[in-house]
Amino acid sequence: MRDLVPAPVAVRIPVRGTGARFPVRRVYCVGRNFAEHAREMGATPADPAARGTPVFFLKPPDAVVLDGQVPYPPGTDELHHEVELVVALGRDAQPGVLDRGQAAALVLGYGVGLDLTRRDLQAAAKARGLPWDTGKAFDASAPVSELVPADAVADLRGLTLSLDVHGERRQHGRLADLVWDVPDILVELSRLYALRAGDLVFMGTPAGVGPLRPGDDWRASLDGVVEVHGRVLAR
Ligand code: MN
Repeated sequence: MRDLVPAPVAVRIPVRGTGARFPVRRVYCVGRNFAEHAREMGATPADPAARGTPVFFLKPPDAVVLDGQVPYPPGTDELHHEVELVVALGRDAQPGVLDRGQAAALVLGYGVGLDLTRRDLQAAAKARGLPWDTGKAFDASAPVSELVPADAVADLRGLTLSLDVHGERRQHGRLADLVWDVPDILVELSRLYALRAGDLVFMGTPAGVGPLRPGDDWRASLDGVVEVHGRVLAR
């Protein structure tokens, strides 16, 4: 039988040094994964000794942007940047809850991206106990860099994330300060979802989130490993 409408085409992210691309299946995101950012958002950071469960949400896979060009989204007057480590999964998870070793073995590579947020809509949803989707899961809300194979990243924990807007530093954070590290997050996701090759995970943002405006040039960096430049376009 023929398709009545065109089938969606996956966004495909280049993988450095391979001549190959990574087709995106799902985009998982983690909230409040740096204590300082949780505080700036008015939340009580997780107690590392009894940190409970992470906050998860998803973005549609076609929200991924590869050239950094982001139209100012409709429905908001408060577009915010959140620079994040992006983890790409290269294998399907076995059924059931993963252990940390099984989780780590799923990782194909890393990138850096922005979890763009319509902060006014997210804040209104939070205040009413409603879902965050309109604040988080919108078109072009997930610009990402190319991916770097995991075996080319010697010490992930020793790396830092940063975001500059017009050359001015806005965000900076050490991956050593993640509340839940990459295996932790994949273990927690495996309690809730069947993880598959093609999934991306945005790992949460450090402190310093703030507005982006039309015409802003931004640069997101996983320092010393990979970066992506972009621009916010007119509405
Ligand atoms: Mn985020």
